[in-house]
Amino acid sequence: MLIRGVIGDPIDHSLGDILHQELFHQLDIKGKYSKIHVSMDELENFTSKNKVHEYNVTIPHKERIIQFLDELDSSAAQIGAVNCVKDNKGYNTDWLGFKECIEQNKINVNQQKCLILGAGGAAKAVAYALIKLGTRSIRVINRSKEKKDALENWVRKQGIKIDNENDYDIIINCTPLGMWPRIDESPYNLNRVTKSQTIIDTIYNPIETKLVRHCKKRADKAIGGLDMFIYQAIESLAIWEDSQIKGKIDIRKIKKELRSKLC
Ligand code: NAP
Repeated sequence: MLIRGVIGDPIDHSLGDILHQELFHQLDIKGKYSKIHVSMDELENFTSKNKVHEYNVTIPHKERIIQFLDELDSSAAQIGAVNCVKDNKGYNTDWLGFKECIEQNKINVNQQKCLILGAGGAAKAVAYALIKLGTRSIRVINRSKEKKDALENWVRKQGIKIDNENDYDIIINCTPLGMWPRIDESPYNLNRVTKSQTIIDTIYNPIETKLVRHCKKRADKAIGGLDMFIYQAIESLAIWEDSQIKGKIDIRKIKKELRSKLC
């Protein structure tokens, strides 16, 4: 039987199994998608000895796994993070998931000033997508200065300005602040959000974070992380199946299935 899965630590909270089982069902793929607990100490062993050859990677392994893989696809190499593996080659589909989310929600990134909250794996993938979509500038706010500087330096190297003017057009949360169970937290001072700004939260549990809820109430454009989550999974499946599958998926049905499991 075909076995795919997602590795991480912790892994219990992941909804990857529900999402992929629904995708398998819709595409008539006979297989199982499992949540596999892999600790930091077990990671090297997992990559060399495991019997699962097609899997997703989540916190905290997205960056560390690179050293144990044979090869990287070019976007994963540039982003420096892997969330999808096929036959020991690493890919990044988070950036594709974010890009698709932007396109599906008709958000204009071209020549916009963007603020990214966070500087981890998701933030890098988001920065990469924003650059591909023609952003004018990117500023990063992060808890640790070291990672903030590293991401901003990478952005500069791609020929994109770091803007310090504070009047951002788009703000994207790439930290876990606001994620279940700590749903009362917000990564950004809510009073500072203005009506003209677009807010995107990469968190999908809860479906509406405090930040998204606050902005929606005021009729601002605010989007949660569910679309990104679904589209990164579809892009992973396309790599494993080696075929274009996007047009064959009933996204509404997937959302309904996931919403029933989320708070
Ligand atoms: P990561 O690599 O561990 O990075 C987490 C980032 O958040 C780091 O910059 C970290 O700052 C910051 N951070 C963590 N805890 C914080 C706290 N208590 N206060 C302030 N900052 C904090 O994780 P990741 O893979 O980038 O994932 C980040 C979030 O993105 C996840 O929580 C997840 O919800 C979301 N995500 C969503 C999707 C999707 O498909 N929708 C995909 C990937 C990720 P330091 O540098 O100081 O540690």
